[in-house]
Amino acid sequence: MTLNDKTLLITAAGQGIGAASARACAAAGAEVIATDVNGDLLTALDGVSGIETRVLDVTDPTAITALAADLPDLDGLFNCAGVVHHGTVLDLTDSDWDFAVNLNVTSMVRMCRAFIPGLLRRAQTTGSAAVLNMASMASSEKGFVNRTAYGATKAAVIGLTKAIAADFVTQNLRCNALCPGTVDTPSLRGRIASAPDPVQAEKDFIARQPMGRLATVDDLTPTVVHLLSDGSRFITGQAVLVDGGVTI
Ligand code: NAD
Repeated sequence: MTLNDKTLLITAAGQGIGAASARACAAAGAEVIATDVNGDLLTALDGVSGIETRVLDVTDPTAITALAADLPDLDGLFNCAGVVHHGTVLDLTDSDWDFAVNLNVTSMVRMCRAFIPGLLRRAQTTGSAAVLNMASMASSEKGFVNRTAYGATKAAVIGLTKAIAADFVTQNLRCNALCPGTVDTPSLRGRIASAPDPVQAEKDFIARQPMGRLATVDDLTPTVVHLLSDGSRFITGQAVLVDGGVTI
């Protein structure tokens, strides 16, 4: 599986799944533009062959438009940024809901609107371009306790993905969604640490994974590379579950 001659942009690449994906895509031969709202986190990628970093807050429409104008046309876009709101519908304030919709869905719409014209130009020349949107097993795939805003917004990501796939299927632009299980990342560690009983919280996260362990970021990155590569050239509009069997 190669990403040779492809230029990809990844959002939320400062840590966690985004950072691991940036490294994996670069190792597979891509030129990666790794972006994150947090410039300090991006410094960990300084000097990695094939990776260039840019600060980007995906909730800032002006910054998205400016970055798209400043970059060459892309072959691939991985919209990875997202936030987990913890709580039932009864705990959900309007501002929490607005924040989740804005970061998890609206930012992706804006990224796609800004970068798809260039992806289509590349697809016309090379015969292939790909968008990958970060969803979750917690979405239209499956309901989880205390994940109202998260599940609803990640379900919207899957709907957005299928709509984009349908609109551009004849123009060599593919669009898929990635639906991970529970992945050991800094944000998950933060959710565990902020639980009333962190030891029990970690056990509960592991208990919902039938394989008896959390995913590592390295469990996910081969699928990220695949879905951005021409190896997946006949796959579009799919919600691809990498969940260790949760949704069997
Ligand atoms: P993480 O907290 O480890 O990393 C998130 C990154 O997003 C950070 O570097 C942060 O600076 C960046 N970020 C936050 N707000 C941003 C913004 N406005 N603009 C740009 N970057 C921003 O998170 P993670 O666990 O790797 O999650 C990444 C994605 O994967 C999210 O969309 C999340 O919903 C999804 N996901 C995670 C899991 C999991 O169990 N960790 C499971 C399924 C899906």
